[in-house]
Amino acid sequence: MPEPHKKPRVIAVANQKGGVGKTTTAINLAAALAIGGIKVLLIDIDPQGNASTGLGIEHEARNGGSYSLLAGETKLAEAILRTEVENLSIIPAVADLIGADIEFGQQDRREFLLRDALNQGCDADIVLIDCPPGLALLTLNALVAADAILVPLQAEFFALEGISQLMRSVDMVKRNLNPKLTIEGIVLTMTDKRNNLSEQVSNEVRTYFRDKVFETAIPRNIRITEAPSHGIPVLLYDFRSTGAQAYLALAAEFLRRARARKEMA
Ligand code: ADP
Ligand code: MG
Repeated sequence: MPEPHKKPRVIAVANQKGGVGKTTTAINLAAALAIGGIKVLLIDIDPQGNASTGLGIEHEARNGGSYSLLAGETKLAEAILRTEVENLSIIPAVADLIGADIEFGQQDRREFLLRDALNQGCDADIVLIDCPPGLALLTLNALVAADAILVPLQAEFFALEGISQLMRSVDMVKRNLNPKLTIEGIVLTMTDKRNNLSEQVSNEVRTYFRDKVFETAIPRNIRITEAPSHGIPVLLYDFRSTGAQAYLALAAEFLRRARARKEMA
């Protein structure tokens, strides 16, 4: 008898703002967890497909990817591709996702497409969903499928305003669509110790959101920017870089926090 599928912990990496480090965090947190022996499935639901490209998935290999999965044309098991990183698999994104709001928007279970697909079961321990910017249907699907949201936050002037808006949307999703949704945490990204504004905003975010903020911050690091063009996570590109080490530390803290809350074995 095959073992019954255990339920993976599902984390949506989301922030309505673009360019804040969602994809970078999804790829590199996923890789750091995978290198630590955890089976990770990364689902790319951004029509831009940056996470797929950053993990070296050729366009010809994407084969419908998360679009076909949401459309119900592909089974979960068939949509999953391997990556260069052991223990890390991916469901890539194709540009067809751009039409998701129009195409799926009239369906009865439009917010539940991803949750229903994940209910088919897979052998991952953790599923990370790389969301597009904005809070439209694709991001809603991620928040409905997820146990928790992880928010990359770039420490800049409007950061607090943006995050308050995001938290209100999370509350709306909790009330109406997914009561079990929690906040995994806020990750400060592209921090710069020599930049006063970055430091000041980081401190404000920590004062306001307290233990919701990961102690590990991800510093601005050129190796993080370079890695995607080689189709590998920064951990494979330059293990010793401050960027790679920060994502390793983030993965360790992520596991420590989840285990302390008894949310992971
Ligand atoms: P999002 O997915 O939220 O749009 P990305 O992860 O694509 O954001 O990041 C936006 C840009 O910033 C990318 O070019 C990425 O390489 C760069 N970037 C992200 N995090 C860092 C970092 N810690 N150091 C340097 N560049 C970064
Ligand atoms: Mg992105």
